Amino acid sequence: MVTGEAVTPDATSPHVLRGTPVVPGVAHAAVAVVAGELDGAAVAAYRASAPTDEAAALEAYDAAVALVADGFATRASHVEGAAAQVLTASAGLARDRGLRSGVRKQLRAGADLVGAAEAAVDTFVALFEQQGGLMAERVTDLRDIERRIVARLAGLPEPGVVMPETPVVLVAADLAPSDTAGLDPAVVLALVTERGGATSHTAIIARQLGIPCVVGVVGALGLADGTTVLVDGTAGTVEVEPDATDAADRVAADGALRAATASWTGPAATADGLRIKLLANVADPGSAVAAAEQPVEGVGLFRTELSFLDRPSEPTVEEQAELYAAVFAPYAAAGQTVVVRTLDAGSDKPIAFATHEGEENPALGVRGLRLAADNPDLLVHQLDAVALAAERSGVDAWVMAPMVATRDEAAAFAEQVRARGLKAGAMIEVPAAAVLAHRVLEVVDFLSIGTNDLTQYTMAADRMASDLAHLTDPWQPAVLHLVAITAAAGQQVGKPVGVCGEAAADPLLACALVGMGVTSLSMASGAVRAVGAQLALVTAEQCEEAAERVLAAADPTAAREAARAVLVPRGE
Ligand code: PEP
Ligand code: MG
Repeated sequence: MVTGEAVTPDATSPHVLRGTPVVPGVAHAAVAVVAGELDGAAVAAYRASAPTDEAAALEAYDAAVALVADGFATRASHVEGAAAQVLTASAGLARDRGLRSGVRKQLRAGADLVGAAEAAVDTFVALFEQQGGLMAERVTDLRDIERRIVARLAGLPEPGVVMPETPVVLVAADLAPSDTAGLDPAVVLALVTERGGATSHTAIIARQLGIPCVVGVVGALGLADGTTVLVDGTAGTVEVEPDATDAADRVAADGALRAATASWTGPAATADGLRIKLLANVADPGSAVAAAEQPVEGVGLFRTELSFLDRPSEPTVEEQAELYAAVFAPYAAAGQTVVVRTLDAGSDKPIAFATHEGEENPALGVRGLRLAADNPDLLVHQLDAVALAAERSGVDAWVMAPMVATRDEAAAFAEQVRARGLKAGAMIEVPAAAVLAHRVLEVVDFLSIGTNDLTQYTMAADRMASDLAHLTDPWQPAVLHLVAITAAAGQQVGKPVGVCGEAAADPLLACALVGMGVTSLSMASGAVRAVGAQLALVTAEQCEEAAERVLAAADPTAAREAARAVLVPRGE
């Protein structure tokens, strides 16, 4: 069923819809739009004849709920893992006593049974939305339960996915657990929803099935059933009626990368032997242990502030040293490096004992290294603790400062770090520091480019604002130019320049970064294999050409296409 305005593809280039990428991968198939609405006439007819007596109405409600909940439970018994959990949770939500009390209250207030059920669900929806976060994402489940109960009351079949026979891309407003649980990945090649976030059920199930998934795609419901689309779960795009040969090439390349990823063991190098260090981003001892299981060569970013988000006061030097030593431990034996970032408190990472209160514009305020001006002891204590932990664990610890804007800031920081026998570095997150990276390099041993903040500050677009996602895209050529300037400055003096923002985790962008001269890439450890496998498929020359082409591109879409043209093999 189609809702909304139909999307007409452009005659020359494919029309592209954009959303939030949730599960990587590429799929090419016809769209099947999931029906979300009930037969309005049949529901109206039922409303006219529904029982008005409270006891009889509640009896009808209980019978409808039993059918819906039993349906969920039966399906839960046929599947495993996350799918079984979400179906069991939906069965429980359908039977919820509070929901039933809400229906009774509405009946007493004079509502008809369908109206009472809808109003009771509305109350719960408002409550869930008010609570925000994960609760707000359960609103889709509630709405799904409401539609199913109303369908059962009216004697209609429950709405949802009718399993197709040929491969499809499922498109929906949002997919409820009952829609997604038990989907066959051989038939459903990708999921696309107009609503939903990274933690919605659609995302959870897509991850479990390992099929590409893009959520929050504005205009997805305008796609007509049967329209051919190419879904790219890494780029977060849905291309409408793409060129068939190009689409087949991209699906094949994705398949090849998946196969290569599964067997890639590191260490990372291009096909012709250029070595690149792949490192992990970690937050605490737990994530450090988990990352060490992956084929990484150390830690490129230890976000120390994330261990202190719930601390009301500054931990002692000894407490900090213990924590840091626990993070270092899994890397000490192999003689690997751990890059510690000093506290990046403030803005999106509020720390009770370090954040400046009442700033008008905290992202541009006293955050990161700037905190040391007012509170030098904070930095002194942290550096003492890192030095102690390095000595105790025997790890090669490097220390870098976040939010460096000038050479002088970097110099003052480096002096304190080196006084403790450690290597000193600066993060490049502020455009001013990128433009003058050669100056910063005069006073530090290494640089690490934080593309998340560098993108935010270059594009003057809040990294937390989902409606500015087209600007906070690391493929923005302006951002890439600053990365290239920084990498070139490192090459010039032979000092390491890494990337530790999200850009490093995108396999194609990673190749272009290497082509610019970046010497290490640090990322969430789960992304390491795909990046390593992609690098192994290309030569250093291809990386350089990709770098040149993305820097010459006019916008992120052109940059992605240019990189793909150089790095991804084409079919005959
Ligand atoms: C960055 O800004 O890219 C970065 C790595 O730091 P964070 O994401 O912690 O701000
Ligand atoms: Mg940052």
